[in-house]
Amino acid sequence: MKFVVETSARHVHVTQEDLETLFGKGHELTKKKDLSQPGQFACEEKVTIVGSKKEMKASILGPVRPETQVELSLTDARSIGVDAPIRESGDIAGSGACKLVGPAGEVELKEGVIAAKRHIHATPEDAEKLGVKDKDVVSVKIDTEGRSLVFGDVVVRVSPKYALAMHIDTDESNAAACGREVFGEIVK
Ligand SMILES: [Zn+2]
Repeated sequence: MKFVVETSARHVHVTQEDLETLFGKGHELTKKKDLSQPGQFACEEKVTIVGSKKEMKASILGPVRPETQVELSLTDARSIGVDAPIRESGDIAGSGACKLVGPAGEVELKEGVIAAKRHIHATPEDAEKLGVKDKDVVSVKIDTEGRSLVFGDVVVRVSPKYALAMHIDTDESNAAACGREVFGEIVK
């Protein structure tokens, strides 16, 4: 059973409070396009992520969340000079620090910078078909033109709110030379 593999570019999730610090009092996110996961969307708003060496821009993904989180590739993290431990989304205790700069203000993040652990989103029905359960760690084979790769350490996340898709970052995507439409399958 194959599933789509999507590449996540660097992005930022923000709290409503940090959004207002960055973009002004009462600011609300402006949806640019829906993402594959139900309710998640890319926004028009961009912020600057400032590290010890450099800075780079990233889009905000909505909706707002209980904690601000910056997701970078390891190449991005090294380039701008921040730590980005490999973590599951939401697991940010003791993760990397950076500064975020928006048109109305700045937010000093003591933690929240991560390199997202590669993962599969699955509904309970998908998980049953795939023979996996929530928090399983599996290997996924991705077939591409000339750079096929088996990724280990892929965590499975199961929720009725999800849509079946695997998420990798731009480093992982480039390592497998992923093109526009890529599929993966779990290998035992
Ligand atoms: Zn994801």
